[in-house]
Amino acid sequence: MYDDLKGKVAVVTGASSGIGAAIIARFVKEGMKVVINYLREKDVADEMVRIIKKNHGDAIAIQGNIDKEKDNIILAKAAIDAFGDLDVWVNNAGHEKPFATHEMPLSEWQSVIDTNLTGVFLGSREALRYFVDKEKKGNIINMSSVHELIPWPTFAHYAASKGGVKLLTQTMAMEYAPMGIRINAIGPGAIDTPINSEKFADPDQRESVESLIPLGYIGTAHEIANVAAWLASAESSYVTGATIFADGGMTLYPSFQAGNG
Ligand code: NAD
Repeated sequence: MYDDLKGKVAVVTGASSGIGAAIIARFVKEGMKVVINYLREKDVADEMVRIIKKNHGDAIAIQGNIDKEKDNIILAKAAIDAFGDLDVWVNNAGHEKPFATHEMPLSEWQSVIDTNLTGVFLGSREALRYFVDKEKKGNIINMSSVHELIPWPTFAHYAASKGGVKLLTQTMAMEYAPMGIRINAIGPGAIDTPINSEKFADPDQRESVESLIPLGYIGTAHEIANVAAWLASAESSYVTGATIFADGGMTLYPSFQAGNG
């Protein structure tokens, strides 16, 4: 637990499922006030709010498509109106769908870039506007991926978006460090969430993914939320512009594990 997080206000995008929902649960445990952004799952988000409030926490759910400038403005305003402040903004929402690059429709490319990269810019910009205006040493966390580093055939749009998130994170971190604003990314490896539930339901595909992970298992959303809490807290006070890989060692070139090469 991180004492300095108690009472702080956090926005998490794409928070009605998977990693985002786990970050909300962890932030609430830390005593933070949370804004749950969701795209479609109103019932799920409302139920999360109901349970948090029943347990004496503070939460609101705000629908919004983070591809849209207006929805990010509404999201930031909702947080500030509800809780009077904004401390942490987690750009978590993202999606993917495989296509051979030569068959990828422009609309698919655009959709992934709009959410996974432009959405991170738009969310960060709203948070930064508030932090700069209030001279606040705020904190931004971007959900990247091991694919900001590892090429991923048939996911050119996804890998390009996460590669973009890496340099967007580093550039913003450098730009706002003089104001004490910290901006980092998390690079999850293979995590069991709805984004890849179909793939992991197939034992062969699951095994093939597991073979790429030195620690030998597919991670949980909870393990990523632990990293988000640390990055949000003062325990990581000297960390900015970093991507923290939480991937069971996937970025360690596991095919070299047996000493070959
Ligand atoms: P998920 O599908 O459970 O969560 C993604 C969430 O983003 C969903 O709730 C979805 O509704 C929301 N979303 C999508 N487009 C949106 C939009 N335009 N506006 C608002 N919300 C939108 O999957 P997840 O694994 O929890 O993914 C969370 C993040 O983690 C993503 O950025 C993903 O790329 C990243 N990630 C996941 C893994 C993994 O193995 N699960 C690995 C690396 C990175």
